[in-house]
Amino acid sequence: NKKVVLRRHVTGFPTEDDMEITVGTTEQRVPAGLTAVLIKNLYLSCDPWMRGRMSKHDDGATVPVSDFVIGDAMVNFGVGKVIDSTHPEFIAGDLVWGMSGWEEYTLVTQPESLHKINHADLPLSYYTGVLGMPGLTAYAGFTQVARPNKGDFVFVSAASGAVGQVVGQLAKIAGCYVVGSAGSDEKVSLLKTKFGYDDAFNYKSETDLSAALKRCLRDGIDIYFDNVGGATLDAALLHMRHGGRVAVCGMISQYNLEEPYGVRNLYCIIGKTIWVEGFNVGRFFHLYPRFEEEMAGYIKDGKVAVVEDVVEGIESAPAALIGLFSGKNVGKQLVAIARA
Ligand code: NDP
Repeated sequence: NKKVVLRRHVTGFPTEDDMEITVGTTEQRVPAGLTAVLIKNLYLSCDPWMRGRMSKHDDGATVPVSDFVIGDAMVNFGVGKVIDSTHPEFIAGDLVWGMSGWEEYTLVTQPESLHKINHADLPLSYYTGVLGMPGLTAYAGFTQVARPNKGDFVFVSAASGAVGQVVGQLAKIAGCYVVGSAGSDEKVSLLKTKFGYDDAFNYKSETDLSAALKRCLRDGIDIYFDNVGGATLDAALLHMRHGGRVAVCGMISQYNLEEPYGVRNLYCIIGKTIWVEGFNVGRFFHLYPRFEEEMAGYIKDGKVAVVEDVVEGIESAPAALIGLFSGKNVGKQLVAIARA
């Protein structure tokens, strides 16, 4: 059983060398007396929140989950196939997604957290992204937190990524005008040609983010779906419309910094009476069944396009994860490790 394990807790920017591949024994069956599910992992998801778990948090204040244990397989969402089960709701052959190990086989001792895959006619890998946790994040964050109205001016950062690409397309379905920012010209082109964004800009080549927003959203922003925080959030605050909403989903620009960026334009929240709400997708898993049906329908009807960045083999997982923090991924980053 090959595993990706953390070698040391990380401060600052993580590197591939912080992780290593080890080989352990493979369970063939769920051990007697245990209610559990043994799964063969097919796709591992690379998600920015894993960065938080790579650090040591003595105060427990910054992340609501435990730190990764040195030497154990790292843990994240993934897609797998049940090969043995002593849980009444699962049988061998079931295709599932949920919390699993970064390893070839995982004994899941809390099978209640697994979801059966209901649309196996779509690519199973979609359950790491558009039909999995990032898709639900986009759906819940946009519909429940940002609460769009037809005609709203929407701005999305990290707009071509796993969450961003879904938010942009949901915003178009809701009848909004949507602008995205991303970190390369290739991604900007994807935003406009593949995901239907009305306009987009490359924040790395703009000298003045505020001017870029003014150019693309001359009448201001009703909804800012924030995936990055930092300077982009600062610029967006200046352009919020009166009564606008900021759905704070993530702040990836800050995760590796030892000195966080100091946001200067918070005063705009008062003058423009902006509603700012942070959220965690964990709050919204009760919406999953409704979301899965709705999103699978959009994909099948061609209303939502999907771009994935798939690397092969468990050995590729550490580099793929690190690549998220420099924008190497084009679309949802995942690792294919076995065939169903
Ligand atoms: P993505 O697929 O968007 O990948 C991460 C992207 O972030 C990169 O491709 C890169 O895109 C961008 N990025 C990396 N470093 C920086 C930086 N320093 N400044 C600006 N952009 C940067 O990831 P996800 O869609 O999975 O996640 C997007 C955000 O949503 C993250 O902040 C994540 O933590 C958050 N999230 C929050 C959840 C919640 O429950 N609140 C759940 C899931 C995700 P580019 O090339 O465009 O810069």
